[in-house]
Amino acid sequence: MLNVNPLGRVINAKKARQPKTIVVCASCGRTNTLRVSCVAQHDYYLCGPCDKNNAYIHPPRFDGMIRIIGLNAAGGFIGFTTRMATEEELESVERAKAIRGAASGKLGFEDPDNHWIN
Ligand SMILES: [Zn+2]
Repeated sequence: MLNVNPLGRVINAKKARQPKTIVVCASCGRTNTLRVSCVAQHDYYLCGPCDKNNAYIHPPRFDGMIRIIGLNAAGGFIGFTTRMATEEELESVERAKAIRGAASGKLGFEDPDNHWIN
């Protein structure tokens, strides 16, 4: 026997029993209620419009820290986590900066140890 809601849609009883959580946009306060299993944990979230208009001022990110951005971390919300980077992540950031510098024609690109270009 299928469970059917008043609109005639079949209800997945197992999903319906899962606990829900409310995610709040850090900028405008808009909320999104989702099952816990559908939310990736982040420090804070922004809804789509707030992420696009760039009005939100993110917390400061000091040297050695990285900001992880999770697209669709909670439904349409974007998740942000700021934390200390691992050694590999810092190397990755330096490689990305070097590629950006090379692509923009910036001189002074150096790789003395040849540790990422063979
Ligand atoms: Zn918002």
